[in-house]
Amino acid sequence: MKEYVCTVCGYVHKGELPEAFVCPVCGAGPEAFKPVEKKESPKAKVPRKSASKAPETEFSAIEMSVICSNLARGAEKQYKRDLQERFEKLARFFLEEAQAVFKGKKSAEELLNEDLSDLYPEAHAAAAEASDRGAKRSLVWSEKVATALKSLIARYGADGAKIPDGQSVYVCSVCGFVFVGMEPPAICPVCKVPSWKFEKVERRAK
Ligand SMILES: [Zn+2]
Ligand SMILES: [Zn+2]
Repeated sequence: MKEYVCTVCGYVHKGELPEAFVCPVCGAGPEAFKPVEKKESPKAKVPRKSASKAPETEFSAIEMSVICSNLARGAEKQYKRDLQERFEKLARFFLEEAQAVFKGKKSAEELLNEDLSDLYPEAHAAAAEASDRGAKRSLVWSEKVATALKSLIARYGADGAKIPDGQSVYVCSVCGFVFVGMEPPAICPVCKVPSWKFEKVERRAK
């Protein structure tokens, strides 16, 4: 029998995959599923661009936003509330900058497609080259999160307009996994933290 594995959460579906299939664990669509290979095939070599190049010192607004929100999380773990708030403020500032750059240029779907087809293979290759296990792990997580997000956008629209009444958007505060449902999943399908680590996103009034 044919088997398909969810690339987000690892759920295995036995039999043919219906066109409108939704992963019962993480909510990803059929495009997130890959046929289970019975025999391990040798990993395809990913071409990468000049890995020996010196690291870029200038960060984009979106990178700055990610760095600042990571620093905010670090401050939170050390109970440095004041520092946490300042980094959060900075993260929001850079996020708005980044959004202004992207506004009207590319859709969220286009950006996600670019990330998944170009940036992740490159980043994986660079992390492997540097034997950076931390980077590898966070790439695995964020790639799963991006895959799940792509499914959600396809199903509910980039603005979430097609989310049924009564359902909410939940975001895992650890890995960023986004879930749409009546309540958050018991365990994050990507990073395995319990449901209380999920934050409910308040929807703007229509
Ligand atoms: Zn899944
Ligand atoms: Zn998570």
